Amino acid sequence: AKGAGKSQISRFELPMNASIQRRVTLERDLRHALNDRQLQMYYQPQLELRRAALCGFEALIRWQKDGKWISPLEFIGVAEETGLIKELDQYVIDSVFAQVAQWLAAGYDPGEVAINISAFSVQEPGFVELIRAARDKHAIPPERIKLEVTEGLLMKNYDVARQVMLDLKQTGFKWSIDDFGTGYSALSYLRRYPFDQLKIDKSFIDDVHINLENASMTRAIIGMARSLGITVIAEGVETIEQLNVLLQAGCEQIQGYYYSPPLPVASCVQLLQQDATL
Ligand code: C2E
Ligand code: CA
Ligand code: CA
Ligand code: CA
Repeated sequence: AKGAGKSQISRFELPMNASIQRRVTLERDLRHALNDRQLQMYYQPQLELRRAALCGFEALIRWQKDGKWISPLEFIGVAEETGLIKELDQYVIDSVFAQVAQWLAAGYDPGEVAINISAFSVQEPGFVELIRAARDKHAIPPERIKLEVTEGLLMKNYDVARQVMLDLKQTGFKWSIDDFGTGYSALSYLRRYPFDQLKIDKSFIDDVHINLENASMTRAIIGMARSLGITVIAEGVETIEQLNVLLQAGCEQIQGYYYSPPLPVASCVQLLQQDATL
């Protein structure tokens, strides 16, 4: 009777805790994966339309756990909730700086490489020093690196975020605003912060060829960015129809499955070798 009662309790508790349990396990495994450097970076090529040539990459983190790929959307979320994001962002910064330094040393031209940085990390005290230390460690030209942040950063801590951006901009790093057009993106952000690039969110691009409102929004964003001297890249471009609308609107760069999915390093090197012999 005692045993039955026990199993009843655990059966009762299990459904309530299943998702919490998954998160606790994920957090523990992510901590180990970071320590053991088991996370990999993939790089998605970016295309400059005018030259029809590779102009950069976006670094995207990948985690294979017990043979299965875990979506960054899931583990980045867990990392942000548990504070592990600081270590994750540091890991990504170190890996990408090392990779870019290696490509340059090999004589390849990777263009500008974008790194996603969570708003949380940018506001951590010491972030500017951390980036500068990584630059020194890998002896990397900062102009090659674009720090990509979402507008969530801009909403919260205006003074801190702006100062961090200005300091690193002065060091030579570039800034890109990710997922532009979602949430509260205000055009005024673009004047108040030293952005070099604006990335139009995939949700605009998905139906830009059939939705007139999205097409005119896209044109307005591009026109305004141009008047501010900010380059525009569209993300999630999958089809020639989308590309044609973007070409007509004067968009400078695209990223998406139409050109290439995110690639492991070996495939990037193949692309860089082709590019070098063009
Ligand atoms: P994001 O920064 O908006 O990244 C773009 C996402 O769209 C990536 O998903 C990419 O693989 C995917 N994508 C690219 N082209 C296409 C396309 O043509 N069609 C479709 N359907 N999808 C496309 P991913 O790699 O799963 O990353 C999801 C999110 O996780 C990222 O969104 C970013 O917010 C975060 N993330 C990824 N890597 C990192 C990282 O290294 N550090 C941090 N802090 N966050 C990261
Ligand atoms: Ca991004
Ligand atoms: Ca994005
Ligand atoms: Ca997006």
